[in-house]
Amino acid sequence: MTYSRFSALESIANRNRADEKLLDVPSGRISDFFGQNVFNEHTIKKYLTKDLYDEVSKTIHSGDELDGALLKIVANAMKKWAMDKGATHYAHWFQPLTGKTAEKHDSFFTLDGDNNPIEEFSVNALTQQEPDGSSFPGGGLRSTFEARGYTAWDPTSPAFILEVGEGKTLCIPTIFVTYGGEAMDYKLPLLKSASFLENAAKEVCQFFDPLVTSVKTTLGWEQEYFLVDEATFFARPDLILCGRTLVGKYAAKGQQLDDHYFGSIPERVYKYMRDLETECHKLGIPVRTRHNEVGPGQYELAPMYEEVNVAVDHNQLLMDLMDRVARKHKLRVLLHEKPFEGVNGSGKHNNWSMSTNTGKNLLSPGKTPGKNLRFLTFFVSTIRAVWEYADLLRASIASAGNDHRLGANEAPPAIVSVFIGSSLKKVLDNIENDIEADEEGVQTVLNLLRKIPNLDLDNTDRNRTSPFAFTGNKFEIRMVGSSRNCAAPMTVMNTIVGHQLSIFKKSVDDLVNNGMDRDSAILQQIKQYIKESRPILFEGDGYSDDWKKEAAERGLNNHESTPEAIPAYTSAAAVEIFSKNGILTERELHAHQEVMLENYCLSLQIESRTLGEMMYNQVIPAAIKYQNLVADNIHSLRDIGMTDEDLAGQLDILKRLNECIKSITKEVQEMTKYRRASNKIEDSYKRAESYRTYVKPLINSIRICSDRLEYLIDDEYWPIAKYRELMFIK
Ligand code: ADP
Ligand code: MG
Repeated sequence: MTYSRFSALESIANRNRADEKLLDVPSGRISDFFGQNVFNEHTIKKYLTKDLYDEVSKTIHSGDELDGALLKIVANAMKKWAMDKGATHYAHWFQPLTGKTAEKHDSFFTLDGDNNPIEEFSVNALTQQEPDGSSFPGGGLRSTFEARGYTAWDPTSPAFILEVGEGKTLCIPTIFVTYGGEAMDYKLPLLKSASFLENAAKEVCQFFDPLVTSVKTTLGWEQEYFLVDEATFFARPDLILCGRTLVGKYAAKGQQLDDHYFGSIPERVYKYMRDLETECHKLGIPVRTRHNEVGPGQYELAPMYEEVNVAVDHNQLLMDLMDRVARKHKLRVLLHEKPFEGVNGSGKHNNWSMSTNTGKNLLSPGKTPGKNLRFLTFFVSTIRAVWEYADLLRASIASAGNDHRLGANEAPPAIVSVFIGSSLKKVLDNIENDIEADEEGVQTVLNLLRKIPNLDLDNTDRNRTSPFAFTGNKFEIRMVGSSRNCAAPMTVMNTIVGHQLSIFKKSVDDLVNNGMDRDSAILQQIKQYIKESRPILFEGDGYSDDWKKEAAERGLNNHESTPEAIPAYTSAAAVEIFSKNGILTERELHAHQEVMLENYCLSLQIESRTLGEMMYNQVIPAAIKYQNLVADNIHSLRDIGMTDEDLAGQLDILKRLNECIKSITKEVQEMTKYRRASNKIEDSYKRAESYRTYVKPLINSIRICSDRLEYLIDDEYWPIAKYRELMFIK
């Protein structure tokens, strides 16, 4: 049976009337069940003595390896905890370059040497596994004779129990590497980059406060998504296969009334949100904020920020949970960056900062000028790093989906610029222009900083068009797409800022060794960085055409598409910074780039195939049926003596139907031809370029004719769920 548009609508109508079951949301306070399925500091304590717990915790937090005896104790405690909670299996949970998560389950149950059934969880099972590496994209990292991939435990992210239906599985966060230790995942580079940044930041902090002994990178993501009813979802092959609508005329009402943003949440969606939040809370994901977004049927969920590695794991886990919980509610979640034409797409703002063991946020301007010098150091170093490596940041968020969003007059443009707000801009202007970096100058700057009114207030007039904005006490990276693994942009941020901070440290040390006082040396560096990174600071309207022109004059790149953006990963500058600092080798960079380009081609390939099928199986048959109806009508009316002039309306419809059918069949054939030609291209960059240049424009133009048909054809004949049905029926 095909799930037709009409049976879909019928089942929604019936469903909305009946069986809105109450959910089994735990009663009581969230704090009572928060983290109950996580092997965290709280739960570990019940399974380890205090001394042992302290030792394990200290070792893990210092980044040292646990020795064999400790490992055995941890593995046993983990097994006992998981089995007490009803888990029967365990899985290494990892983040391959597909962008999703992966897991391979094994049972605790096994047979011992005498064939007795027992439950076992060895140290080896905790620390290392060997999933079949060949089924995951490796971008050529594995040679053919060594297809194995290994997962290895990441003790800095807590294990958790995933409940799917009645089944419970202990999930152990792991990295995923080749036999030679090369990263085939997002986690390993992220971990390396975070520890690199944290060391560099710690050393710089020593200038200001000797009590700082560790720095943590923090991430707070904001996840946007769309919800559609399961029935209409099933009636759209494009949503099932591509996660976005390839055709569909705008609904007469879109988002123009701005009535959805922060509007009241429909009851059914509210139930979904509550259920999802409960699942998140049980897994220790500290979600707090929920609201409607701009697009009809679009929502957002945001947590409290966390240490970057855990925050990334939590976001990956969240995307998985969102999908599972939606199915329970007969909804489908769309994480695609642009599910609907003409309606805002979905992003995932990444709020990024650094905080110290002394509880200070290094990007918080603070109230006392002495501390502001520290703030300025981290603030300006970040801007300087983004200026130098803007292309790399752009590359890290490139995907076929995000290409629809960036620069589409609703999302940040593909040009990377930094918005800092007018007060901070003034501070930087003053430092750069007026004040010499001698001792008196330092004093003047510090006095000036004291007079700057409330910085936080100023930053509430946020510039929504900026891809990278300072928002009071953190930078907000807004270019990230809703389906992206945050680890990719976070790895770039950590690497480029860590690199910049280590250069800063060295320059200041050199100046001080040459006799300059420290504050002057720091200010001199800051001043130089401001001067150098001037071109990236932009406070204006990022959507305007003037900005495109101006950005080009400033030397900022506008990489509008993924194939243009991705090669930045293997530029000489990128290879240098990643390899020198031990984050990714040149070989790994090439492999990761290869996977991103391949993903791009595959997305377009699937879209193009799906579109072809929809045209031949659904759209053209509907057009022909309606055409026959109109033609019959013309015949009958002519029979009773009507003239062509009388029949001008029908004839016009007939003609337009035919033009669309003609053009669609022609373009589908061309698209197929180009797709096949593109697939034959060996080189992944050239293949992606070919898809972009030849296939993608046809996907767009076929849509235009199909949407025309949707407008022309009798509603009864149109087989594909319409936008108004996808977005406005709740
Ligand atoms: P917005 O107006 O952008 O929605 P919010 O106040 O809701 O702003 O915060 C957005 C996100 O920023 C939240 O996920 C929050 O946890 C995160 N955030 C706040 N402070 C920090 C920080 N110091 N480091 C990282 N993320 C932060
Ligand atoms: Mg935000």
